[in-house]
Amino acid sequence: STPGGPKAKEEKIVVTVRLRPLNKKEQLAKDQVAWECLDDNTIVFKPPTQERTAQQTPFTFDKVFGPTGLTETVYEEGVKNVALSALMGINATIFAYGQTSSGKTYTMRGITEKAVNDIYKHIVNTPERDFTIKISGLEIYNENVRDLLNSESGRNLKLLDDPEKGTVVEKLVEETASNDQHLRHLISICEAQRQVGETALNDTSSRSHQIIRLTIESTLRENSDCVRSFVASLNFVDLAGSERASQTHADGARLREGCHINLSLMTLTTVIRKLSVGKRSGHIPYRDSKLTRMLQHSLGGNARTAIICTLSPALSHVEQSRNTLFFATRAK
Ligand code: ADP
Ligand code: MG
Repeated sequence: STPGGPKAKEEKIVVTVRLRPLNKKEQLAKDQVAWECLDDNTIVFKPPTQERTAQQTPFTFDKVFGPTGLTETVYEEGVKNVALSALMGINATIFAYGQTSSGKTYTMRGITEKAVNDIYKHIVNTPERDFTIKISGLEIYNENVRDLLNSESGRNLKLLDDPEKGTVVEKLVEETASNDQHLRHLISICEAQRQVGETALNDTSSRSHQIIRLTIESTLRENSDCVRSFVASLNFVDLAGSERASQTHADGARLREGCHINLSLMTLTTVIRKLSVGKRSGHIPYRDSKLTRMLQHSLGGNARTAIICTLSPALSHVEQSRNTLFFATRAK
């Protein structure tokens, strides 16, 4: 399969992996790098102390980005084509998946910024069409939905089934962006709002999902043969820490805290696995969680998806990193 390059047009799910550098904390703790990118597509476990032991099985993806890779490159090669398909009326979703502190938020912020730049570049270069860009932002925490553009809205907005629009969030604020600067401002409000929750509720970002949804509409200005309106959603999803996806290694303390499992994340991994298997996979349980209900029309069908799996390089995190790579493998 091909990465986000021109040939990837028909690719429905693009799966990439981003390995970040060791952070300060890991360096101070004398943690060591345990992964090596062999080439643009391949990553392998390479523990520092076992250099000469048996070769580990490498993992292969559409693209693998190493610790010196820029977000720009991740965007260009792993996301751009998926994101820009929303300008042509095709729903698209970009996810960051990985354990807490692996770089999801860092990556998604940069990606969102670059996508916004490209969208407005396209608008300038397409004078024959009129574009409207709307934005909404929400957070799902413990299966409760909160509006990130309206701090007054409370923490438990209802999901409703609209016959035309599918699942909608009751009373969710949707703002129309007047230009790129305004859109960036609205995105920064969502990000700030998410952080407010974080201080109040002690590390919610590891447990909550953030969705920034752009709705992009365009119509041809002049009547012509190709009179055509486009409308599509482009979703940027910063997921809860992937350690919440599985119960396997939860110890007693974690179980008592009741924070070890995340229904939306678990359901999402099931949905993505089933979509990647294709038509024979049968029933797809979109309705089992708030996140997958919200994204139902932007996942599967004609929609396009880019999943960026973020990894800590640290030896101490190897188990979670492996889990992330197994998820990434099953998503393909
Ligand atoms: P997550 O959202 O997955 O919990 P963050 O995005 O908050 O993780 O990243 C954790 C820390 O690592 C942050 O301080 C962030 O700036 C840093 N970081 C993440 N990815 C990279 C990267 N590719 N290059 C440099 N620093 C990074
Ligand atoms: Mg984060």
